Amino acid sequence: MSNKCKTAISVIGIVLSIALLAISAVLAEEAIIRPALAVTFTVISAILVFVAIFYAAKIDYETGVYECRKCGHTFKPTFKAYTLGAHTLSTRHLKCSGCGEKSWCKRKNRRV
Ligand SMILES: [Zn+2]
Repeated sequence: MSNKCKTAISVIGIVLSIALLAISAVLAEEAIIRPALAVTFTVISAILVFVAIFYAAKIDYETGVYECRKCGHTFKPTFKAYTLGAHTLSTRHLKCSGCGEKSWCKRKNRRV
């Protein structure tokens, strides 16, 4: 499966999970379903949202490498450094494995 395809699937997963969360909230609000069932739906959809976000992060992690601003070295951070690092859409504050300096590293797609 291509990286773009994986990314699209994870985005769809997040959107569907949030939609399910919204739908169960509305159904409960309108008293269409029993409160206990609404709680169950809400819990399930909340879990799905977390799973989808985690899955999306995992795919983003697996498909990306980062280029150091200081020395130009391209590296793959640890999953811990990846998840804890401050980030924007295309950069992440990481410690370079080449020079050991911390900088805003640019994300690049890993060639598969
Ligand atoms: Zn470096």
